[in-house]
Amino acid sequence: MKKIQMVDLKGQYEHIKDRVNSSVIEVIESTAFINGPEVHSFQKELEEYLGVKHVIPCANGTDALQIAMMGLGLKPGDEVITADFTFAATVEVIALLGLTPVLVDVDPVNFNIDIEAIKRAITPKTRAIVPVHLFGLVANMDAIMEIAAEHHLYVIEDNAQAIGATYTSKNGTKQKAGAIGHVASTSFFPSKNLGCYGDGGAIFTNDDDLAHIIRGIVNHGMYIRYHHDVVGVNSRLDSIQAAVLRAKLPHLDTYNAARRKAAKKYSEAFAGVENIISPSCFCSTEDFGCASCDCHVFHQYTLRILNTDRDALVKHLNENEIPCGVYYPIPLHLQKAYLDERYKEENFKVTNQLVKEVVSLPMHTELDDEQIDFITSTVINFVTK
Ligand SMILES: *Cc1c(COP(=O)(O)O)cnc(C)c1O
Repeated sequence: MKKIQMVDLKGQYEHIKDRVNSSVIEVIESTAFINGPEVHSFQKELEEYLGVKHVIPCANGTDALQIAMMGLGLKPGDEVITADFTFAATVEVIALLGLTPVLVDVDPVNFNIDIEAIKRAITPKTRAIVPVHLFGLVANMDAIMEIAAEHHLYVIEDNAQAIGATYTSKNGTKQKAGAIGHVASTSFFPSKNLGCYGDGGAIFTNDDDLAHIIRGIVNHGMYIRYHHDVVGVNSRLDSIQAAVLRAKLPHLDTYNAARRKAAKKYSEAFAGVENIISPSCFCSTEDFGCASCDCHVFHQYTLRILNTDRDALVKHLNENEIPCGVYYPIPLHLQKAYLDERYKEENFKVTNQLVKEVVSLPMHTELDDEQIDFITSTVINFVTK
């Protein structure tokens, strides 16, 4: 059996090596390292793929979130609601801009922001909601857009983990994750579903005015060279990363299908096993949770492990040379940087529980059946012993 990896970037690279190498060398030969033609072409190709009017490339996914919030003109004191169970980047940029993060609990079935919790958290100061499409599964955007419309709030999708996922609304409309809210951010960090070979990110919006504002913000607040109309930042995707992304974008659907296939095989093996809850969503009619449904692109395949010492399972997997991860081990509302006396523990029941139960198994485009069989039998033997 091939050695199991959490993410197999090398294996994926082998299939696209010729195109990547020649494109990267072309950029070097051209010396158009910053804002070269590769960046512009990638932007156009991604707009087309997502069905979104504007893609603004930037330096990373954290910048993308921050720039989206700057573009919306959010001001110190404005409250921004987001999920307690996510990567810290989301809450970090809210705090950095002097906005007030309002963390809320998540749903135990799909791990995404809890709709009722959003409603309870709205105050006259609330300006925006940031749903995170966690682990590759699109949040309940119908409900979130409805709440936002009712309360005149912006919706910023943190799409760092769900690029390529398709969301089907109640009325049957299909949209790509990141094309639904007022603005969205994504990350091209190497291990993301569409990863480059360094740092990268982008902001998406269908709003022409907002796109114009954001294009200035990423470039030191300049709309005319050396005229600084607003306080901006320096946040660019470099041409070498754009060349890598252009080589990978045509394969994104195939990559996500490979992830879904692996997820389906995992979920089939875990079906009916006591003490294991496989990932799921609300919109699927398929047999194995959301493993066959296009609103999930499995950035992570994350189980809940019940009545078992999760940390002992992690140790056991590692002893068997099965890498795994605990995303995330600590709720954001309990992180020192984000403590807030207004938070009450009884409002974070789900996150407090999930951090003790979750384990993410190897997930990438190169997993084979033999590896998945070994992983699932090792997990099952441990939790049922
Ligand atoms: C990765 C990630 C980010 C940050 O992206 P970077 O490119 O690493 O800055 C933000 N939000 C979520 C949910 C992420 O997973």
